[in-house]
Amino acid sequence: STVYLNNQFIPSDEARISPMDRGFLFGEGIYEVIPSYDGQFIGLQQHLDRLLDGLNALAISAPLNNQQWIDLCKKLLASNQGQDLAVYIQVTRGSGPTRQHAYPENSTPTVFAFAFEIPAQPIADKNSAVTYKVSSQQDLRWKRCQIKSTSLLGNVLHYQQGIDEGNKETILFNTKDELTEASSSNVFIVKGNTIMTPPLDNQILPGITRHILLAVLREHSQFNIEERVISYQEVINADEVWLTSSTKEIAPVIQLGEHTIASGEVGDVWLHAQTLFSKYKYQY
Ligand code: PMP
Repeated sequence: STVYLNNQFIPSDEARISPMDRGFLFGEGIYEVIPSYDGQFIGLQQHLDRLLDGLNALAISAPLNNQQWIDLCKKLLASNQGQDLAVYIQVTRGSGPTRQHAYPENSTPTVFAFAFEIPAQPIADKNSAVTYKVSSQQDLRWKRCQIKSTSLLGNVLHYQQGIDEGNKETILFNTKDELTEASSSNVFIVKGNTIMTPPLDNQILPGITRHILLAVLREHSQFNIEERVISYQEVINADEVWLTSSTKEIAPVIQLGEHTIASGEVGDVWLHAQTLFSKYKYQY
């Protein structure tokens, strides 16, 4: 495949970075995953805005301007095979003269991007929904989860523990037994006429799918939409639980640990939400 590395489009097996890169030594970088179907990106500008927020948080000056990021994303789609591709972008601080914690005086950020195939877009149909049985764990990551950092060790450990328990994801709760998010997704629950998700703070990533879904539901559905603290008890007693992420869109959770969610079937509200999301997702 063709990848982008520091201003060049090159075959992936020719891409080289220094082992002194602080992305390698410290996991010191920011990344994005931007989905596209049939050549159309979803939430491209929001992903680029979040990338900039992350770079600002790390005091890394943006190596490209907004139009250059857009051109890069489009060029990666054009130069790679596949109908449904996500673009991965990673920016690290680059390398310094030696391994030292302090930011080097003048390092050049490393920009790496490539495109990879993703599953076909979810269909709003109960029978073809990809459902999730998930583990439940105490959130043992750090207190800056709003930063989309390439340092994903905490997330990887949670995710793998879910896999080791025979599940496909892990939903996380803080020490007060409040829902945060899943190891690679945001979480929504449904109770009666209300659709809820935890508020944005340092405990969760501000997911673009979360953002688009909230906007779509507020504009196009009759449900009450709440961003508020959600307890463990509310999750296990919910009518429906969903995961959201760029490559999943909205995915029904049918079991959390030992608890079956409601009847264990894909819910009507999921069908409604995924139908609206599929219809309006390119407009945000
Ligand atoms: N939370 C975490 C921890 C994630 O890694 C992701 C992305 N896979 C999400 C939430 C969902 O974010 P988005 O909708 O922007 O893909």
